[in-house]
Amino acid sequence: MTAASPALLDLTLPELTEWMVGLGFPKFRAGQVYTWLMKGKRPGEMNNVPLALREALAQNAHVGGVTICETLESPKDGTRKYLYELEDGNILEGVLLRYHHGNTLCVSTQVGCRMGCAFCASTGDGLIRNLTPGEILGQVIAVNADLGGGRSITNLVLMGSGEPLDNYDNTLKFIRLASCGDGLGISQRNISLSTCGLVERIDQLAQEGLHITLCISLHSALDEKRRQIMPIARKWTVAQTVNAARAYAQATGRRVIFEYALTNGINDTCQDADALATALKGLPSHVNVIPLNAADGSTLSASEHVEAFLKMLEDRGVSATRRRTLGEDIEGACGQLRRRRLQERAEKIPE
Ligand code: SAH
Repeated sequence: MTAASPALLDLTLPELTEWMVGLGFPKFRAGQVYTWLMKGKRPGEMNNVPLALREALAQNAHVGGVTICETLESPKDGTRKYLYELEDGNILEGVLLRYHHGNTLCVSTQVGCRMGCAFCASTGDGLIRNLTPGEILGQVIAVNADLGGGRSITNLVLMGSGEPLDNYDNTLKFIRLASCGDGLGISQRNISLSTCGLVERIDQLAQEGLHITLCISLHSALDEKRRQIMPIARKWTVAQTVNAARAYAQATGRRVIFEYALTNGINDTCQDADALATALKGLPSHVNVIPLNAADGSTLSASEHVEAFLKMLEDRGVSATRRRTLGEDIEGACGQLRRRRLQERAEKIPE
């Protein structure tokens, strides 16, 4: 059943069709409306549909996506950072990475996050709210429209603010909407979902019949150290987390990616490399080593031993590479752009 006053971007084409037929419009109009929605158009701009339908959409539904309110582009590598506003005034950040093989958009699944990772800028104020499927899809639609019909987004990484598996149903619906041939048609093989390691949800995800890549933010293969930087490690051990990855790889036939933010004195020693190699033994996986992007005022800092650590992993038979960092010249660490906008807003509010 579709809600009486739905957010249009939350709906699949069959759901939109059912809702529009319920309002008395012919089926084929839903296809036209859906095409406009995927192009980022609002009801008033859908100029091949009758005025009565445009009015009915404006009165009985809302779009439920995002609006771009600021764009910054790196002169160095073409990376773009976006600031989006949601219909309720909340603010989100997005990053568009441009590679030779296509455009990758990093999308958010929640406003804020309740996972509390020590190094992460998204979690400072806790979880504000979950995003709806349409608000996640809306980020892709808005950036596609901004790219102006040129090469649009081909790859998605769910690595913006929020924990995707903590907003499970909406994230799953988003993946299905984004990959569906009726809509944007982004191949699931080009979608990566990153989680801090919600083990029961990883088990559930393995059974969904999706072809997406699972990325797990491990950051340490030693329980005690992982607990110091990631509260989720108090709930699930490294062994439980890696076992869930093994089950995922087995169920989907897909290699799992482990993310490892290399942090000075925390996870960059020989002992850390040993633990990681032991944990991942026999698992089809790859490790993305990322120098920590240190937040202002944090006691954690980037490791200076990235190359040495990669060599230690190589010597231990672990497949690993340094993840390229793009857009470093524009507003530094993730979350900074949003933080600045929120500060500006607070300063505008009179006493
Ligand atoms: N909640 C999900 C996805 C969001 S974060 C998760 O935890 O995976 C996306 C990735 O960026 C994660 O691997 C996260 O650990 C990493 N990350 C967050 N803050 C970072 C920082 N300051 N430096 C380097 N990586 C960071």
